[in-house]
Amino acid sequence: MDSGSVLQNIINTQQERITGMQVNYYLSCRTKLWLYSHSISLEHTSELIKLGELLHQEYFNSQRKDVFYDGVAFDVIKPNKQIVEVKRGTRVRECDIYQTLYYLYYLEKHGVKGFTAVLTYPRARKKLVLTLDNEKRKRLDEIIRGIREIVKQPYPPPPKKKKFCQGCAYFDFCFG
Ligand code: SF4
Repeated sequence: MDSGSVLQNIINTQQERITGMQVNYYLSCRTKLWLYSHSISLEHTSELIKLGELLHQEYFNSQRKDVFYDGVAFDVIKPNKQIVEVKRGTRVRECDIYQTLYYLYYLEKHGVKGFTAVLTYPRARKKLVLTLDNEKRKRLDEIIRGIREIVKQPYPPPPKKKKFCQGCAYFDFCFG
């Protein structure tokens, strides 16, 4: 294989790789999924995003942390083989559950087993331990197919106003 083909393979792999955030956005807002997937990023302008980052740092401050990064990034507490997803909100949402489960699914697809996943909402003192089963794997297969369909569209799906739009970094883009 020549170097051009090798490079093209790498690019294809990068484009095919789905991130946990895409899983989350597929279930919470498909407009956001499209914008994020096309690298239209306004995240740094949102105060709420900054608050989330601070909360995340605080949560991990006293605990050992490692980060796997291969286009898909997540936090791992090493001694427990635990993947941890920290959320700023107080309400348990399906999109957060499937984002967290996706990390287990992703590892499983790469032959890595023996991890558990924890979804935590420090402000609400809620913690869920999540595991995969066949029904959830099937749902994730469907989600991934759905993500690919949306991302390949030439334009974003029209925005639909939701309760949490006010806190979204894309609010002005969608409704300004
Ligand atoms: S403002 Fe609302 S509709 Fe627009 S991307 Fe954000 S969540 Fe989606």
